[in-house]
Amino acid sequence: MAEKKGKLSRSGLAIELSTIKGFSKPKVSVEQYMTDSEIAATVLWDAYMKDDVKGKVIADLGCGTGILGMGCMLLGASKVYFVESDSSAIKIAKKNVQNMESESLSEFFLGDVSEFDKKVDTVIMNPPFGVKREHSDRKFLEKAFEISDKVYSFHKSETKNFVEKFAKDNNFRITQVIELEFPLKASMLFHRKKVEKINVSCFRLVK
Ligand code: SAH
Repeated sequence: MAEKKGKLSRSGLAIELSTIKGFSKPKVSVEQYMTDSEIAATVLWDAYMKDDVKGKVIADLGCGTGILGMGCMLLGASKVYFVESDSSAIKIAKKNVQNMESESLSEFFLGDVSEFDKKVDTVIMNPPFGVKREHSDRKFLEKAFEISDKVYSFHKSETKNFVEKFAKDNNFRITQVIELEFPLKASMLFHRKKVEKINVSCFRLVK
């Protein structure tokens, strides 16, 4: 690690995250893509400043290759649960964590997000947006609301009304929206342009 413990800056975090290994063969059917390291750093730094990360138990639901949970480890989370249904993705996540220097505990859960049942302080997740399966993000929100009172969750900006209503029905409210532009690879969208940007928001949801 280039940065000394306790001295990690936002840009230092982004640099660390940019070295994390992504999916080797992304599966389009479950919308596998890795969060861009700059975007991950922006959101995680914000969560850190709100005191939602340091010393906290965190769950990264649909962790993929682990970038969000690993960022939390770098920012001093006491423990991170990595939850993922795809065995090849979680294998990469495990390797990534092994290669990282951190005093945080980590635990890996291979299975459907609905089967995970540990209570945590904060959930941070970038789930499938439901492009391939409509509202596949609903299952993730349901689980997040069940295990935590504080949730950071990425969704397509155009689904804000759905997120807001679903949160309200579960006694959660949106306290912040970070608007982002996601570069999605052409292979994920079947578009002709090489890189397509889509509007994504990270919602902070609090009970
Ligand atoms: N959070 C990671 C990966 C985002 S892609 C990142 O930010 O880089 C979404 C991930 O959710 C994929 O790895 C996919 O395999 C996983 N996933 C999809 N459906 C799932 C389910 N039902 N239970 C657990 N993980 C799931």
